[in-house]
Amino acid sequence: MTPNRRFRNVVRIGPVRVGTSYDNRGREQHTAACTAPRCGFSADYDSRTAAELAARTHRCPVR
Ligand SMILES: [Zn+2]
Repeated sequence: MTPNRRFRNVVRIGPVRVGTSYDNRGREQHTAACTAPRCGFSADYDSRTAAELAARTHRCPVR
């Protein structure tokens, strides 16, 4: 996750954190980011549902 972005409603689903923030146009975006070391998965989604689904179905490529 980009450290200087502020996230609201952060939840943790397995190793993945999902948070809502605003992009530089003031629109909501939803980010899923894996906290596992060496994974590095991070993606932005238009909807909270999509971000949480991605978090739930995420599999780390590295164990
Ligand atoms: Zn991962």
